[in-house]
Amino acid sequence: MPVLIVGGGPVGLLMAVGLRHFGVDCMVVEKHASTLDFPKGRRVTTRTVEIFRQWGLEEEVSNVSLPRPDSLFVFDGDTLLGADFQRRGMPFDDVTRSSPTRELICSQEQLEPVLRKQAQDRGADLRFSTEVVGFTQDDDGVTAEIVAHGEQVSVRAAYMVAADGVRGGTREALGVSRSGPGAFGQRVSILVEADIEMRMEQRQSAVYWLRRPLSGSLFVAVDNKSRWLMSAPYNPETEPGESLTERRCVELVRGGLGDDSVELRYIGHRFWEPTALVADRYQVGSVYLVGDAAHVTMPEGGLGMNCGVADAHNLAWKLDGDLAGWASPALLKSYERERRPHAVACADASLGPARPPNPIDGLVLGQVYHSAVITPDHTAESSPAPLARSRALDPRPVRQRLRRAHRPSRETSARYRRRCCAHHGNPPRRPRHR
Ligand SMILES: Cc1cc2nc3c(=O)[nH]c(=O)nc-3n(C[C@H](O)[C@H](O)[C@H](O)COP(=O)(O)OP(=O)(O)OC[C@H]3O[C@@H](n4cnc5c(N)ncnc54)[C@H](O)[C@@H]3O)c2cc1C
Repeated sequence: MPVLIVGGGPVGLLMAVGLRHFGVDCMVVEKHASTLDFPKGRRVTTRTVEIFRQWGLEEEVSNVSLPRPDSLFVFDGDTLLGADFQRRGMPFDDVTRSSPTRELICSQEQLEPVLRKQAQDRGADLRFSTEVVGFTQDDDGVTAEIVAHGEQVSVRAAYMVAADGVRGGTREALGVSRSGPGAFGQRVSILVEADIEMRMEQRQSAVYWLRRPLSGSLFVAVDNKSRWLMSAPYNPETEPGESLTERRCVELVRGGLGDDSVELRYIGHRFWEPTALVADRYQVGSVYLVGDAAHVTMPEGGLGMNCGVADAHNLAWKLDGDLAGWASPALLKSYERERRPHAVACADASLGPARPPNPIDGLVLGQVYHSAVITPDHTAESSPAPLARSRALDPRPVRQRLRRAHRPSRETSARYRRRCCAHHGNPPRRPRHR
């Protein structure tokens, strides 16, 4: 197998879509039986929608996203139904002249099945209920041990992409540490059904910041109709996780709703730890880290998954170039050099500056990459032809994307030919240039 992807979350699945876009065979191994069954991320930035458009996913993702008018606002109030609230528009218009696409609000548990289906339809080998339990590396690639239905087998791959999330074991197994501000307390997300659509008609927003039941509580619109997700901070020292029973969760949601007469159906709750940390390395040998395996951000600004989408977009064509033999080693090496600074910037912004309705177009559309494979604009290559054999770099001039700060953006990704290359059995031999 050319590429083994560990983890079938949004980033692993998108990695598979991207690799298949370039004709590269890949296997995705996901330990759970299905995609995510509980709402998590929702903000799909303009840049991510551009990537979805490039890989033919935009329409399907739009179909499972919130209607545009519901996504344009941020709500600040005491409670969801109380009289005291403010509803402010998000500054989307700033990017309309820089991108043909628009940001979407798409609940992650709606997005993942779209990515799964697309990856499958394009020929990726998806293995759910299957877990990577270990791996070794040698000069030619990776041998991973995978367990499915109690049976262990070895999978040989030229490259392994670790998209196994913040709790996946690959990063630690590689001995890669993380840097950054760290974790900020504990939160509980509670999913309920409540028939409040009519009462919310004049309030519909992408995110609802509340001061009750505790400061820092928020509701997010799963569908802005009957399904609502409330997230509240809790202190495990005064209120251990076990004490957050269904009854206590419903009590917290009622506090946030501000009306005890509303009929509620509790669906479930999950604990999570808001964290901002970035892996110190993105590559060890033939293993690459992407998505939450490489970086985690606070939820402010909804940057985490989007940052992972850009990782997959950056890495897919570089792996293709390497496997097909037209790229020099400098191209794959540029992955970490280009993507890690962006993750650091996203993690920093998620500490507060990215909180909606603050604009994040600079981070989303204005990231400037610096790496050995990027040459100064409008000039010939400045270094000794690191990509001499490559026809790949996008010759487009810099896009003036960040209108506010007038900063240009450069991308090393480009449109490539669609090649059909089927690899079966042993992984293809990689060009011997490492
Ligand atoms: C409350 C909340 C709100 C958020 N809001 C946003 C938002 O609005 N926008 C945004 O961009 N991001 C948001 N995020 C972040 C976003 O959810 C994550 O960044 C995203 O899920 C990361 O995707 P991933 O594929 O890298 O990792 P994950 O989604 O964690 O997927 C990793 C997968 O790997 C699997 N796995 C792990 N180990 C193994 C193994 N050994 N073998 C096989 N499979 C394995 C796991 O089962 C899992 O399915 C939010 C997060 C939270 C908690």
